[in-house]
Amino acid sequence: MSSFKIFVGSITAAVTPPILLTILAVAFQKEIGLYHNNPIPLDTLLNYVFLIDVKAMQTNSLIAVIISWILAGLFIGEVTRKLIYGLTSSIIGYFLLVFYYVFSLETIPAIFTLPSIYTFITLLGSATIFSEIREMRKPKPFFTRLEEGGIKVEEEYKYPLKLPIRCPNCNAVIYSNSEYCWNCNFRLVDLFPRFRES
Ligand SMILES: [Zn+2]
Repeated sequence: MSSFKIFVGSITAAVTPPILLTILAVAFQKEIGLYHNNPIPLDTLLNYVFLIDVKAMQTNSLIAVIISWILAGLFIGEVTRKLIYGLTSSIIGYFLLVFYYVFSLETIPAIFTLPSIYTFITLLGSATIFSEIREMRKPKPFFTRLEEGGIKVEEEYKYPLKLPIRCPNCNAVIYSNSEYCWNCNFRLVDLFPRFRES
């Protein structure tokens, strides 16, 4: 499962920055200077993604490249869900892109120049931040939220029931963890363990 997440995350990391940059270039064509109603050659795109093209270093283009890397990082975080998978995926994805760059252009780009290191750090950073946010936003259990709102719930009612349940006495359908059956007044509380959600 985890290696599958890393695999999907890596592909996401390798594929999304150029795609996102294309979308941004088409949307803001005058400002970004990459797309002028003509197809964008892949090598041009990659030169932008790695900030090798001089034009990519101009303000608006630079912002577009950085945004595309940040969004890519967020996508990785979304896909991989866990920090460790996100980090691994970012690294593999980045180098997948580098390998593609090297083999398709048959040149060794200035991969380890400062700008491309920054894009790499951006990718790692946004994947990391997203994973952290996801961890923090894990939903609290229902009863914890109730008690935070000042509603005290006794332990015997805290069973996670698989609803609806059926009254064992009259066979009525019951949609809550109520103490008694609404139909025949049969006491249900003692039976909760039987209907526990596994
Ligand atoms: Zn009943």
